[in-house]
Formats: sequence, C-alpha cells, structure tokens
Amino acid sequence: MEKCELLDTCGFFKNFKGNSEVVKQGWIKMFCEDRNKSERCARKKYREQHGVAPVDNMSPTGKML
Ligand code: SF4
Repeated sequence: MEKCELLDTCGFFKNFKGNSEVVKQGWIKMFCEDRNKSERCARKKYREQHGVAPVDNMSPTGKML
C-alpha cells in the first residue's frame, strides 16, 4: 500500500510515532500508512494552506499532543 508521501519528512511521524496516545488512537495506520487516507490529515491540509509544516506535536486529526 502506498504511504503518505510526507512520511520521511513529517515531524509528527518522526517524533511521535511511538507516543502512547498515538499508538492508542491508531493514527499512523489511519492516516500515515495509507496515501488516500492521508489526504484527510490535518497536518497535510495545514501545509497546503500555509505553505509550511505545522508544529511537530499537531496530530493528523488536528489535536495537539
Ligand atoms: S501525520 Fe499526516 S503528513 Fe505526517 S506522515 Fe502522517 S499523514 Fe503524512
């Protein structure tokens, strides 16, 4: 399955993929590991709107960790 194209550079994925809340919520599977689903990621939308990546602790749902 094709993954999110931002995976290698995403601060959230790099720094929080092992975070207990992230694991519990299943966000990596729900967004990052599926290219189609990643289109719903709040981080991706933020980047499109603002031209820069959001803070690393913003999750794919937009919730701050
Ligand atoms: S958090 Fe969003 S932008 Fe980052 S890798 Fe996952 S789906 Fe892609």
